[in-house]
Formats: sequence, structure tokens, C-alpha cells
Amino acid sequence: PRPYGSAPPELREQTLVLVKPDAVQRRLVGDVIRRFERRGFKLVAMKLLQADRGLLDKHYQQLRQKPFYPALLSYMTSGPLVAMVWEGYNVVRSTRAMVGDTNSAQAAAGTIRGDFSMHVSRNVVHASDSVETALREIGFWFQRDELVAWESSDRDYTYGP
Ligand code: UDP
Repeated sequence: PRPYGSAPPELREQTLVLVKPDAVQRRLVGDVIRRFERRGFKLVAMKLLQADRGLLDKHYQQLRQKPFYPALLSYMTSGPLVAMVWEGYNVVRSTRAMVGDTNSAQAAAGTIRGDFSMHVSRNVVHASDSVETALREIGFWFQRDELVAWESSDRDYTYGP
């Protein structure tokens, strides 16, 4: 395997994905992971945890004044969730496209939300909405040493030489 860092910077974009508590309860963790793996993204960090209010207040700081925030907090603390960092070319935008519309009722078929959920209040996954947000969010959910630096051996078959 090639040493980490040999890939050009554009292949090293990262995003935070959360498999939310509804999806853990519904045994959808594997299905969600499979979609990102099959697309060709590289998993660089993953853990199961029970999120607490302090962490969610940081993660959703833009939404704290919204009327649905108390319900969102109770949903997101209702059970364990899986936090992951995925890496690859254009991963933030591609992941958002794969996740689909925030409102599951309107999410297109073929997207994760469109295929696995029915309602905005139980929409299965989170994915960062910009490169800047991703950097910040990854810092909320992971210690620096929890990210694993590795090169996948199929890189030329995923991206071309
Ligand atoms: N949410 C909700 N009701 C709403 C809007 C959002 O319960 O009317 C929840 C939903 O879980 C959503 C999260 O709040 O995923 C964050 O909302 P945001 O607008 O950031 O959407 P996302 O980036 O998750 O698509």
C-alpha cells in the first residue's frame, strides 16, 4: 500500500456522517455504510455512541432557536448513533446528494432518506453541508487521533491513474 498523503489534496476531502438513532434501532447501519463504500468513498473514522445535549448543542448550533429543536434533541438522544468520517473526491456534495432532501417525505427515490424514511423528524442520517461545516463538525465528534490515515489499494480503479 502507498503511504498516506500520496493522494492529491482533492481526494482527501472529508465529511461527517451520522447514522441517527432511528436508523440504529431499525438496523439500517449496514445499509447506510454500504452505500458510501460502494460509491467509492473511504471510511476513516467510525464509532457508536450515545450523544449528549452538550455535543448536540454544538453540532446543531444554527438550529437552537428553531421550534423543532427540543424534539430534535430528544430524537437525537433517544438511543445510540453511529458517527463516521468519509473521505474522497467531492465527498461533501456527493454525500449530500446521496442522502437526499431534509424532508424525507420529499426525498427522491434512490437517496438514503428517500429509500429508508418517511418523515422529516426521523430522517435516518446527517451529512455535513459544506467543506467548512464538515471540518468543524468532525472536530465536535472525533478526537484528531481517532481519524485513521490510510491509502486504499483500489485508488487507480476508483479515480483513474
Ligand atoms: N428537522 C426537523 N424538522 C424540521 C427541520 C429539520 O425535525 O422541520 C431535523 C431533521 O432531523 C434534520 C435536522 O433537523 O435532519 C437538521 O436540519 P437541517 O435543516 O440542518 O437539515 P439537514 O442538513 O439534516 O438535511
